[in-house]
Amino acid sequence: MKVLVTGGAGFIGSHIVEFLLENNIETVVVDNLVSGHKHHIPSGVAFYHSDIRNPDIDKIFMTEKPDFVIHQAAQVSVQESVKQPLYDCSENIMATVNILQSCLKHNVKKIIHASTAAVYGNPKYLPIDENHDLNPVSFYGLSKWTSETYIQLFAKLSGLKYTILRYSNVYGARQDANGEAGVISIFIDRLLKNESPIIYGDGNQTRDFIFVKDVAYANFLSLRNADNQICNISSHQQTSVNELLDIIYSLMTVENKRIYKEERPGDIVHSYLLNNKARKYLNWNPKFSLLQGLEETISFFRN
Ligand code: NAD
Repeated sequence: MKVLVTGGAGFIGSHIVEFLLENNIETVVVDNLVSGHKHHIPSGVAFYHSDIRNPDIDKIFMTEKPDFVIHQAAQVSVQESVKQPLYDCSENIMATVNILQSCLKHNVKKIIHASTAAVYGNPKYLPIDENHDLNPVSFYGLSKWTSETYIQLFAKLSGLKYTILRYSNVYGARQDANGEAGVISIFIDRLLKNESPIIYGDGNQTRDFIFVKDVAYANFLSLRNADNQICNISSHQQTSVNELLDIIYSLMTVENKRIYKEERPGDIVHSYLLNNKARKYLNWNPKFSLLQGLEETISFFRN
């Protein structure tokens, strides 16, 4: 079995690549390194420094003949999507269609797609299940939803199989602490620099934090399970930002200080996702508690 991972030099993609290698699965990475790093890719993995929007990507499929594609490459910033909707569209929609065309042409059996809780927008009820209305409030949420829809129609018209995984807030080693998404890496990074974490609002807003190794495991299981299903990948635990910081402080012996700033307009107050479908169809369940995941993450950033 051969798996091609787009975005395999990125945060989540590189953990997926590691997981596949640990399970002796031949793996190929395609990444343009716009936010990923070559040193994230384990040695011995075939690496193509290429942009998945380029039609030439087809040559890689012709050479490598992958059985499966795990599609992680994307423009991942909500803010950037609002500033540059056309760029977001080319990265998250057009690039996905380009990959899908090559999947069809080269008889790929299945595509596993990284989607996001951002497709749901402001929750109407909690926990959010996969039947919740899709009402994105950013172009990122819209482009991810659109790419899901392309995948489903390609599958319907061709027989290509898919699993779509909607991740909640992923955290862990190698997450970019300069980005906007990884509140955990941002907090840990600031504390290690002896700076105070900044909390927008009163800190009682909640999120569903899922450890990156659990996400990698879900992608691995999707190679065999959950054909043509959409599954939330989440911890199903609601953790407030204040609680999160309490745990981080209990693990790091640093002075407990916090800066509270005005709530940011548009920020969702509470979010957590049901993960019953992933348990049922993928035979997956999260193996890492928040405490365990944070211990590993802190140790990575310390080193
Ligand atoms: P990341 O930025 O670390 O990884 C994305 C990777 O894709 C990078 O290595 C980047 O260089 C590569 N890439 C981007 N555009 C490319 C292109 N045109 N051609 C080739 N390579 C390209 O981000 P991440 O957090 O690891 O996200 C991985 C996936 O998971 C994304 O699809 C993202 O939308 C999704 N996701 C992430 C989270 C999260 O909390 N991190 C939550 C929900 C969904």
